[in-house]
Amino acid sequence: MRQSQMFIPTLRETPTEAESLSHRLMLKSGMIKQLARGIYAYLPITQLVLNNIQDIVREEMMNIGGAEVHLPVLHPRELWEESGRWDAYGKELMRVSDRHDREFALGPTHEEVITALVRDELKSYKKLPLTLFQIQTKFRDELRPRFGLLRGREFIMKDAYSFHIDEESLDQTYRDMYDAYSRIFTRLDLNFRAVEADGGSIGGSHTHEFMALADIGEDTIVYTDESSYAANIEKAECSAPAESSSEAMLETEKIATPDIQTVKELADFLKTDLTLTTKTMVVKTDDGLKMIVIRGDQELNDVKVKAYFNSEIIEMAEDAEITAELNASPGSLGPVNSSIPVYLDYQVAAMRNYPVGANETGYHLLNVNHDRDFEASGISDFRFINEGEIVADGSGPAKFMRGIEVGQVFKLGTKYSESMNFNVLDQNGRAKPVLMGCYGIGISRVLSAIVEGHHDDKGIYWPKSVTPFDIHVITANTKDETITNTADEIYDILSKNHKVLYDDRNERAGVKFADSELIGLPVRIVVGRGAKDGIVEVKGRQDEESAEVNITELTSYLA
Ligand code: ATP
Ligand code: MG
Ligand code: MG
Ligand code: MG
Repeated sequence: MRQSQMFIPTLRETPTEAESLSHRLMLKSGMIKQLARGIYAYLPITQLVLNNIQDIVREEMMNIGGAEVHLPVLHPRELWEESGRWDAYGKELMRVSDRHDREFALGPTHEEVITALVRDELKSYKKLPLTLFQIQTKFRDELRPRFGLLRGREFIMKDAYSFHIDEESLDQTYRDMYDAYSRIFTRLDLNFRAVEADGGSIGGSHTHEFMALADIGEDTIVYTDESSYAANIEKAECSAPAESSSEAMLETEKIATPDIQTVKELADFLKTDLTLTTKTMVVKTDDGLKMIVIRGDQELNDVKVKAYFNSEIIEMAEDAEITAELNASPGSLGPVNSSIPVYLDYQVAAMRNYPVGANETGYHLLNVNHDRDFEASGISDFRFINEGEIVADGSGPAKFMRGIEVGQVFKLGTKYSESMNFNVLDQNGRAKPVLMGCYGIGISRVLSAIVEGHHDDKGIYWPKSVTPFDIHVITANTKDETITNTADEIYDILSKNHKVLYDDRNERAGVKFADSELIGLPVRIVVGRGAKDGIVEVKGRQDEESAEVNITELTSYLA
């Protein structure tokens, strides 16, 4: 492909609005352009990489017997009412209506749609097991879309669903998926770890998340050096968890900060420490006690304090009294200067069972897969493990690291088949609810995660498995006919066996080199003055020095 025909609007300046390295690099290298908050156009380089990621994912899904489908994005409200999620999903569900005022959800996930589809076709165990998958755009009205493609409101997901007559069959597919995910993330060259995740109401170790290790990650992984133990902090337990909710409650009361007693004081405090962004508090308001998440948002050096209650931003009187600081989440717990971003989801979930008036009907769980993720049984569930405490398997003290959730495998059991009435006849002719599993990979998030782990101060360097092109051929000077002819020739020859990007643009050499390093193809060939002697310069993206190679030996040199 000739670069003059591409669309790669690289930036000279580093975009300041970007909040993460991958976000910055992807803007700078002309890969993405924001249309609205959390909504991006994927430009040609991005599209090529996404295609490669999808090819790998498809191949591994088909390897374990997954069949690809493409399901609708528009989901009739009635379907989501069957599962109970039209209400339960809350504000994250994007909703639209048609000209007849019929309501639809823009699919954030497809359990309802796939269950309805399969339910109408499968009547007997003989057709099971079955695994279907798709790669598609998903919509979630995230409260805090951020970090470019890492948390978008419109993003690409691979989602797979499996159907089974018994546990053994579900177990088998779950293992196959787990292994397929491990192969996928290995092929994508991600530094990842599979961790036990919170299964919530379904309970047990029925779900694993795949985490790409990165400081920017929004998840905290608990692990030890002594064993293979690894769990999301949402799931991790210490070997002697708090016994009763009343004990946990007492502990909670104790850590109220003595010198911050009103909302006004808290706001002032947040302004003094820009690393501290969130606190969870029990606040006395006019209509009673409320557990509230207070967040200081840094916007243009101005700290705005917002309070959330049941996922709504609420107005609070400045003199509203803070009665306790909650020991309920990694960000708000412990030292006041903790800069760990907080799990708003869990705090809001915690409210549900927290005996301070948050048990009202109509509460929303936010930013979690409602029903599917968890159902809290008491505040003690929300006492997160601390660093240094002995983990559940007794192997050693907990260590923390950060991860980006790139995928999750999940045993759903009969959750959807029961609520949506999907039964098949078993071997004895008895009707049985089908067992299900679901398995997601954030394709566009994976792309960002790869960039997070593959860059230097000059730009990106792509893993070979997903690189948009293999070789970057660059003419150092488009005015020189020998150089142009030689470059044309090299481009033609190499294109037979490689994906080649040919920078034929009429730009200064310096601009081309800088762009080339930003875009980060594995090999760069510069056709310059040496062309008249049949010599070009070849450099690997991460090499310090380039090599002079005779054009006649180029193909064998690259082999
Ligand atoms: P998170 O905890 O980050 O909000 P999730 O648990 O809600 O993610 P799942 O429902 O498990 O997400 O969806 C499957 C995969 O889709 C996730 O593992 C993640 O890789 C990806 N994903 C989820 N939300 C987003 C998003 N807003 N933007 C990009 N990718 C996402
Ligand atoms: Mg989510
Ligand atoms: Mg999650
Ligand atoms: Mg998940």
